[in-house]
Amino acid sequence: MTLDELGGFVRAVPDFPKPGILFRDLTPLLADGAAFRAATRALADRAGDFDLIAGIEARGFLFGAALAQLTGKGLVIVRKPGKLPGATIAHDYALEYGTDRLELHADAVTAGARVLMVDDVLATGGTAEAAVTLVRKAGGAVARALFVLELEGLPGAARLQALGVEAVSLFRYPA
Ligand code: AMP
Repeated sequence: MTLDELGGFVRAVPDFPKPGILFRDLTPLLADGAAFRAATRALADRAGDFDLIAGIEARGFLFGAALAQLTGKGLVIVRKPGKLPGATIAHDYALEYGTDRLELHADAVTAGARVLMVDDVLATGGTAEAAVTLVRKAGGAVARALFVLELEGLPGAARLQALGVEAVSLFRYPA
């Protein structure tokens, strides 16, 4: 399946979750076995060298898990607060209104491990930036940040670049 064909499985939903947001919905891609497999392979082709995958809650878990299976690497999960049972480290980050927090098991990343971060969509980059900081706090080195798609006109890739992390995505769509 070509990337163009794969793009046909990305659905644009206007005004979700609030007016003015054009939501890029990947559920049709996940629901089609051939498309999900093609997306996973395309991500693996762009993954570079790494030791471990960090999937970001929630849709990063789906693509992170598929990629872990394809590449034979392990998966650690970057979660919203209060979900992980063991000792955690956390990073708080600013939202438009208020703050949010991401957590990771304190022993999830071995020192110096090259961690490939995976999420579905790179938008403002706030979540990815926080995940990079968290993985680094845990002792890991972020190898690359991989997304199914990136929204153009938002500062996501530039924010990651400012942290020294390359953002790679299969598709670029207008925000
Ligand atoms: P951000 O922190 O702004 O980069 O947004 C990150 C998270 O929000 C991603 O994990 C996406 O799942 C989700 N997201 C933000 N904007 C969109 C959008 N327009 N369509 C689909 N998902 C989005």
